Amino acid sequence: TERANYTERLEKTVVERTRQLEEALGKEKELNELKTKFLSLVSHEFKTPISGILTSATLAGKYTKEEQQEKREKHLDTIKSKVKYLNTIIDDFLSIERLDTGKTNYKFSTFPLSKVLNEVIYDANMHLKSGQSIKYPPNADDITVDYDEKILELSLSNLIHNAVKYSSENTIVDIKAYQNETHLEIQIIDQGIGIPEHEQRFVFDRYFRAENALLSPGTGIGINIVKNHLENLGGNITFKSVQNEGSTFTISIPVTKSPSL
Ligand code: ADP
Repeated sequence: TERANYTERLEKTVVERTRQLEEALGKEKELNELKTKFLSLVSHEFKTPISGILTSATLAGKYTKEEQQEKREKHLDTIKSKVKYLNTIIDDFLSIERLDTGKTNYKFSTFPLSKVLNEVIYDANMHLKSGQSIKYPPNADDITVDYDEKILELSLSNLIHNAVKYSSENTIVDIKAYQNETHLEIQIIDQGIGIPEHEQRFVFDRYFRAENALLSPGTGIGINIVKNHLENLGGNITFKSVQNEGSTFTISIPVTKSPSL
């Protein structure tokens, strides 16, 4: 019987080991699939703007005459905007790494809201579809912000680009700013495709992309990063969305100084 017991124990160990091995192999397979998916996503994200840059650079090189200056500059602007877009994606990847390893350094400064908005809208304007426009908040010049300028720029850039990207021709992206004693709230309102209700609870998950968004380029990391940064700095982000009608994303950041100081 001792021998029988021993065999039984051995069998159990073998079964348990096999199970552990299978689990590990399964995990490795899953990880490998994730890596492949990630690589294909990244390659795809980079390939489209890069071919655009190549085309514009070739065309810009052909317009050498004085009277073709305008055309040349248009292509150079396109190149600039596409390179900037690639830069944002890389910044997003770096942001993820820093957020995950807790290595984010924030830097507070005082600046006019209009400064950040001007920069972000200038870029977003290059991605507009025909008849699309961005409405600037009329009170932006009166608002002074005391925050991490890079983070506010990253947040507004992500949200405004999304609003443009996920809307069709002849729509308006409206930006509104409200300030009270404690918070500055900025709303980005679009008339776009919206987010299907059953997927709304995943919006802040990393790599999430709604099923109705898959025709547009994207990595699903922008909003996740924005939320993490804002929350690290005492702010937050919320949204409301109706499919085929539009979305409103609202960021709120604490006001530490009154605008007149
Ligand atoms: P990306 O746009 O690169 O996919 P984001 O993290 O910025 O990544 O957004 C995640 C997802 O949330 C998008 O893929 C899209 O499905 C949805 N989404 C974000 N903003 C909007 C918007 N303004 N309108 C419709 N869907 C949006």
